Amino acid sequence: MADNTKRFDKKGAGGMDEIAKTLFAPIYPVIAQNIIDRFGITRGTCIDIGSGPASLAIAVAARSDLEVIALDFSGDMHEAASRNIANAGMSDRIRLLCGDVHDIPLADDTADLIISRGSMFFWDDIHCAFREIYRVLKPGGTTYIGGGFGNRELRDAIAADMIRRNPDWKEFNEKNISPENVARFRTMLEEIGVPSFAIIYGDEGLWIVIAKTASGPLP
Ligand code: SAM
Repeated sequence: MADNTKRFDKKGAGGMDEIAKTLFAPIYPVIAQNIIDRFGITRGTCIDIGSGPASLAIAVAARSDLEVIALDFSGDMHEAASRNIANAGMSDRIRLLCGDVHDIPLADDTADLIISRGSMFFWDDIHCAFREIYRVLKPGGTTYIGGGFGNRELRDAIAADMIRRNPDWKEFNEKNISPENVARFRTMLEEIGVPSFAIIYGDEGLWIVIAKTASGPLP
């Protein structure tokens, strides 16, 4: 369904893997800890959507007893993820699943926790994607889906470095983590009828928190 796969081919995956292991490396433990501290979900099934090189999946698995499904539609990203998961000694805790967020190959009510960083800005149809996310979320489960760098210090340091490397990145990032996107995602969640959600917008980034209270599809 998605037509932006080229961006995440071998070259894109190599670049993402490299930056995740260097400049972005400090953000994943901080984001993972933010998630654990905020929700206290440490057991059951977690899905990391658009998991890329699996840095966030690894950081969450390392701080919990969650079984993590690293979902991505890019085989090249999964190649990098597979190496990183093995190197982290996490092969028994993190499973790779090839699939598109618009048609998640998992049963209804699968996940206690659904996380995703830096992926939703690339999704073709956010209404369809979030309907799918709601479907696979368990009643009582929650999401933390969006983008950001964990805290203000990391955000400011990484932004300065990224802008030095690529001046266009400033506009790209400001567009993603913006009041306009808060409004766009809020409208989408209301339109698809998600009964209970919140949007975090601040130093930690822009994150969508959905609390699913009952089983069954959206209206
Ligand atoms: N979450 C990782 C991180 O923060 O390091 C990777 C972020 S990378 C910028 C975006 C990821 O989302 C890529 O791995 C890409 O393949 C994945 N992605 C984009 N659109 C997707 C879709 N429709 N379904 C599944 N994965 C998708």
